[in-house]
Amino acid sequence: MRIAVFPGSFDPLTKGHEEIVRKAVPLFDKIYVAIGENANKKYCFPIEKRLQWIRQAFADESKVEVVVYEGLTIDFCRKVGARFILRGLRNSMDFQYEKDIAEANRHLAPEVETIFLLSSPELAHVSSSLVRELYHHQGNYSEYVSFELK
Ligand code: ADP
Repeated sequence: MRIAVFPGSFDPLTKGHEEIVRKAVPLFDKIYVAIGENANKKYCFPIEKRLQWIRQAFADESKVEVVVYEGLTIDFCRKVGARFILRGLRNSMDFQYEKDIAEANRHLAPEVETIFLLSSPELAHVSSSLVRELYHHQGNYSEYVSFELK
């Protein structure tokens, strides 16, 4: 079984995240969209909501399972038998940041390979922080999120 973990905060899930998962579906037998919960981090949306929205977004994808995890991503990968970590890249800044994380993870767990998929140009400017900003100021976020934030 080719099992991948797509870890993130998903605060909230955006169409950019959704695109990465949908592009990955044909590549893997199973994809865990894994919401990393860090007790020291402040989130905008409660975990129950983030979970509910992601489940809703991938209700039609039988290969996708949405879970919450605490601790290191590689420990979660080992727990579920995943040999791949999936991450999305929007630009060279993402690449620099992601490369360091991927190298650290490789060092910790050489058996787990990080796989990167590029976002399409139309979605390369989309981020959870942009959506949060729009949400806070009653802006229109519907272009960036496939559900209503409520
Ligand atoms: P984290 O807090 O771990 O960065 P995010 O929820 O912000 O979690 O992002 C999870 C993954 O999705 C990261 O690999 C990030 O680069 C990727 N990502 C975020 N937005 C987009 C987008 N618009 N297109 C492609 N990938 C994206």
